[in-house]
Amino acid sequence: MRIIVTPFLIIMVSIFIVLFDNLSFFQHVLKVYPFKLENIGFLFSLGLLLYALIVVLFTAVSSRYILKPIIIISLIMASFIAYFMQSYNIVIDKTMIENTLQTNMNESMDLMSVKLFIYLLLLGILPSWIVYKIPLQHRGFKTELWSKIKLILIHLALIALLLFSFSKFYTSFFREHKVLRLYTNPVTAIYNLVSYTYDQVKETNIPMKIIGLDAKQTKDTKKRKIVIMVVGEAARSDHFSLNGYSKETNPLLKKESIVNFSNMYACGTTTAISVPCMFSIYKRGDYDSTKGYNTHSVLDVLSHAGVEVLWRDNNSNSKGVAVRLTYENYKTAQKNTMCKGECRDEGMLIGLESLIEKNDKDIIIVLHQMGNHGPAYYKRYPKSFKKFTPVCETNQLEECSAEEISNAYDNAILYTDYFLSKTIHFLKRYEEKIDTAMIYIADHGESLGENGLYLHGLPYFIAPKHQKHVGAVMWFGKDFPVDEEKLKNRAKHEYSHDNLFSTLLGLFDVQTEVYEKNMDILAN
Ligand SMILES: [Zn+2]
Repeated sequence: MRIIVTPFLIIMVSIFIVLFDNLSFFQHVLKVYPFKLENIGFLFSLGLLLYALIVVLFTAVSSRYILKPIIIISLIMASFIAYFMQSYNIVIDKTMIENTLQTNMNESMDLMSVKLFIYLLLLGILPSWIVYKIPLQHRGFKTELWSKIKLILIHLALIALLLFSFSKFYTSFFREHKVLRLYTNPVTAIYNLVSYTYDQVKETNIPMKIIGLDAKQTKDTKKRKIVIMVVGEAARSDHFSLNGYSKETNPLLKKESIVNFSNMYACGTTTAISVPCMFSIYKRGDYDSTKGYNTHSVLDVLSHAGVEVLWRDNNSNSKGVAVRLTYENYKTAQKNTMCKGECRDEGMLIGLESLIEKNDKDIIIVLHQMGNHGPAYYKRYPKSFKKFTPVCETNQLEECSAEEISNAYDNAILYTDYFLSKTIHFLKRYEEKIDTAMIYIADHGESLGENGLYLHGLPYFIAPKHQKHVGAVMWFGKDFPVDEEKLKNRAKHEYSHDNLFSTLLGLFDVQTEVYEKNMDILAN
């Protein structure tokens, strides 16, 4: 192979990335700026601008020994991102990075496919192999440095020229169409990865904020309280027949005396944000991961007050919420006794009797469901729940019809309906002697192909309602001190994850300065 110089390699790789890894970006751009005579110049300049930006980035970090590894990592990363953007229409913002880094092996296996392998091979491995093999000429430190400076200056000048020549277009591009930038590959991902890492480093220096140390229970009866809180996964409200969905997805819950919250909104559009946020003292507008992870949650406050707390997880993990509490992993057959194929949510109910019977404290048990985790919805339920057919039985959602996707998703909701009803029946065994209750709230919703969107995780401000409007249900044992009729009326009002913090405190009669009565759904 011919020996080449560093700038040539950088330029060729940058052109490759613009042409082959940015299909999603240009598709989204074309929706806003269609291919018309007046837009052609701008569209062309946008490609050039992206190219120049990538050249500047590579050159800035290129030193003799790290250039090739950096290019290879970028190519592999970009091939993955190109696949996920093309297939699921997702973007790689900070939340998505957080989510990806917290995803376990089982969840990743769900996303594997032949198509992903092809992307990886053609856009990642093959060009990487060529980059690896090409002999680079090293022309001495001074010559290399000067050539790098020239390369950066020429491309910065090009960027300036493009911005200036199409300033009218770029003003609208940067101000009104911020979303489009999220699709630039791999620029956005690299930017967010750096920013996420910076936040993580910063976070380790933050002291833990302990709240509600004054918390104490003020019950007037001696009767115990046991609450099972089910944290749902990716369950959108409009696919619950309780909320008027045309398919019967809640045949068992509708037979129970439940309170259905038809207007419940999530705090975030991913598990990594929503789960810690719903237990957090911070409201959605005020919440961020750094604060969330470094402040005690409502479960910690309940624990201070003397309530026993147990977290069982069949999802990924508690996203930091249960780190100071009793945590049990139900994702493997080690604890979960119902793991044929994959570990089932109902396995989390097994053995709870011994916890309840071992002492007479009040208890809150959090069950974190696998629920409707996508895209392999068809794996989320036992065969007997395959009621709606035909079913999409691949993780390549774009290969299935809307009906097949929806059927697989709805069968998983049907299984959650069964799981929740089983949870209620478990609690009913104790309702004579103990005040029992179940609370179910999903962490976020899900897109099922509407406007070409799949899964979840879009930034909150652009996410469609389907990703934010979630299923939520409460059930109370027969003597539970709550006015159910009044509550059923209130349950039509708009509530959100923000309400959970004070509602749980109120439920256990905990008095503390961090309790806000106006946020407590159950307070009169
Ligand atoms: Zn989730």
